[in-house]
Amino acid sequence: MLAVHLENGAVTVREVPMPRRPPGHALLRLLVGGICNTDLELRRGYYGFSGTPGHEFVAEVAEADSPSLTGRRVVGEINLACGDCEWCRKGLGRHCPRRTVLGIVQHPGAFAEYFTLPEGNLRAVAEGISSERAVFTEPLAAACEILEQVPIPRGETVAVLGDGKLGLLVALVLNVHGYAVRLFGRHEEKLRIAARAGIETQVADGQPEARFGWVVEATGNPEGLRLAAAMTRPRGTVILKSTVAGAISLDAAPIVVNEITLVGSRCGRFEEALPLLGHGLIPLEEMISARYPLGEAAEAFDHAGRRGTLKVLLDAGSTPAGG
Ligand SMILES: [Zn+2]
Ligand SMILES: [Zn+2]
Repeated sequence: MLAVHLENGAVTVREVPMPRRPPGHALLRLLVGGICNTDLELRRGYYGFSGTPGHEFVAEVAEADSPSLTGRRVVGEINLACGDCEWCRKGLGRHCPRRTVLGIVQHPGAFAEYFTLPEGNLRAVAEGISSERAVFTEPLAAACEILEQVPIPRGETVAVLGDGKLGLLVALVLNVHGYAVRLFGRHEEKLRIAARAGIETQVADGQPEARFGWVVEATGNPEGLRLAAAMTRPRGTVILKSTVAGAISLDAAPIVVNEITLVGSRCGRFEEALPLLGHGLIPLEEMISARYPLGEAAEAFDHAGRRGTLKVLLDAGSTPAGG
């Protein structure tokens, strides 16, 4: 079967043996994969990664212990937790210290014709939802995580800084949850996607100072945190969504003086994201910049890394089973 291989900054596609299915895991046949910024950072050497990347996917269950799963179209939680530590018992397997992570930490990823995940990680995709939309479940869940972490009163104004994939999804999710969202970005055409959903947008320069009680930082660049803190009013909260590899320098004085709360925020529960896949005010299709067959993953990664690109998808749907 074909699998994408990432090593020393190079993306190649290789013929490799089919993975063996451990007990309790499902063997999954990839339909559509999504390239995210984490994949691009892995290519840059984040986590010293080498192997098959990919954690945003829609797949068909080829084989599983539970007969009811076989043949189903699924998405999957990316953290493989131990199931019995303190964190797992609290339902927070995403923080399990012994976890591996699909396509990121010691578990081969989804950019392959076949891969495996524990059956408990899988969630069925509803009939009426296209795979093009369902492939956004994981990043949508990451956007939903904010509301699980920070109890923002309904109707409040929330500023979102950054109009990349994550910034747009965060803005769209907060908007459908009834917040007054102000999205600050640099790209007219991306801001228009949010504006059509009823979000107030602004080209980012000269952001208002000390204006917002809640600011979500999703710029993906080291300057974002300073900007976000400057926009936050005293006693306000900055929610940090960017995982910028490496150290960022920051003048802590404005954060201390204004008593600003910093909240780091990563992935979220799929249960919150799945109902949003069918929501008319979350125009996921408009966020797809390009599609490539799995065999052209190197070109797809290059495209995803170009400035201004939103989601690049990898298609493997037409591959015959058992290939
Ligand atoms: Zn991701
Ligand atoms: Zn655990």
